[in-house]
Amino acid sequence: MNLQNSLNFSGGPGALPENVLSQLSEEIIKVPGLGISVLGISHRSEWFAEVISELEDNIRALLGLNDKYHVLMLQGGATQQFSMVPMTLLRGKSTAAEYIQTGYWSGKAIPEAKLEGPIRIVWSGDSTSFKRLPTDDELCFSPDAPYMHYISNETVEGLQFQRVLGRNDVPRICDMSSDFLSKPCEFERFSLIYAHAQKNIGPAGITVVVVRDDLIEHSSGKLPSFLDYKTQAKAHSNFNTPPVFAIYAVLLVTRWLLNDIGGLKYMDQINRRKAELLYGLIDESDGFFQGRANTADRSLMNVVFKLPKPELERRFITESQAAGFSGLSGHRAIGGLRASIYNAVTIAAVEELMNFMDVFWRKSVRS
Ligand SMILES: *Cc1c(COP(=O)(O)O)cnc(C)c1O
Repeated sequence: MNLQNSLNFSGGPGALPENVLSQLSEEIIKVPGLGISVLGISHRSEWFAEVISELEDNIRALLGLNDKYHVLMLQGGATQQFSMVPMTLLRGKSTAAEYIQTGYWSGKAIPEAKLEGPIRIVWSGDSTSFKRLPTDDELCFSPDAPYMHYISNETVEGLQFQRVLGRNDVPRICDMSSDFLSKPCEFERFSLIYAHAQKNIGPAGITVVVVRDDLIEHSSGKLPSFLDYKTQAKAHSNFNTPPVFAIYAVLLVTRWLLNDIGGLKYMDQINRRKAELLYGLIDESDGFFQGRANTADRSLMNVVFKLPKPELERRFITESQAAGFSGLSGHRAIGGLRASIYNAVTIAAVEELMNFMDVFWRKSVRS
């Protein structure tokens, strides 16, 4: 097995841009102008204060946010946000928070919220094996909910919303872990957005939380300081020792998005092209590659599919690895195959994957 970095289709931790990786590899030894390794720089240094401040500015610029929003870099992954959101907004409440259950990850958020207060599942895709998303007609939201929570892109099943859900008079909370910074969106319609870095924007270790002022004001002051958005906002993501390296890596990714790609509009064009290519091949394969998601709800980030026989899938994985590809197995919860085409996966890499798939298909049908 000789895997190639450029052919990493992993669901997460995912691919990162080559120029970011090479800059990081140099700076692990020595940051120019500083002379020491990025792994050994104090989080109380002036250098790191500048890193945080540039990263906050870059994320605000990419999302087009006004100054009512705080940008926080927190630890504990998206999973900690499954708890921090209801701790802040649901504890002690008698009206139900609303959750949309569209797949594996939204299903993980629900029991955590139940520990804090009442919840109502607005819609669940359970009975249709999470193969599609709800239409607007199927969603009835309450004006009294403390907040409404959903996941913009279900990473495991490969389902993605292309619209903003919910009411404008109820705080809208979204887990964007697997499509954050992949496309433009009306970000100011959200009260809180969270996205861990390790799918689309960096290494594991940090979660970006974009939160509007008024929501932070909700904080009761009775939460552990570490789990209180207010403390974290006041400390500019430097309340305790943060993962300096992971935060720096995300800064480099945001620079790449702004300077090399030209912003989310152009990132979206590239991402759409990649998805169009792969789904195109799947649709033209006479049922050999079988896409999982309802066509209209297909994710532009996670292309989930299977083959006619499990034995073929095993062969697909083995042969793809021998050809230098990695990360093409489906999530352990549902099996099958998955090509994650996050921001850093190039159109050229997708074309190489298509060549491989095309050859594999023709060979398997003949034999
Ligand atoms: C991977 C994933 C998670 C889990 O994130 P952790 O950082 O491992 O806690 C949550 N939500 C979504 C949408 C994911 O893709």
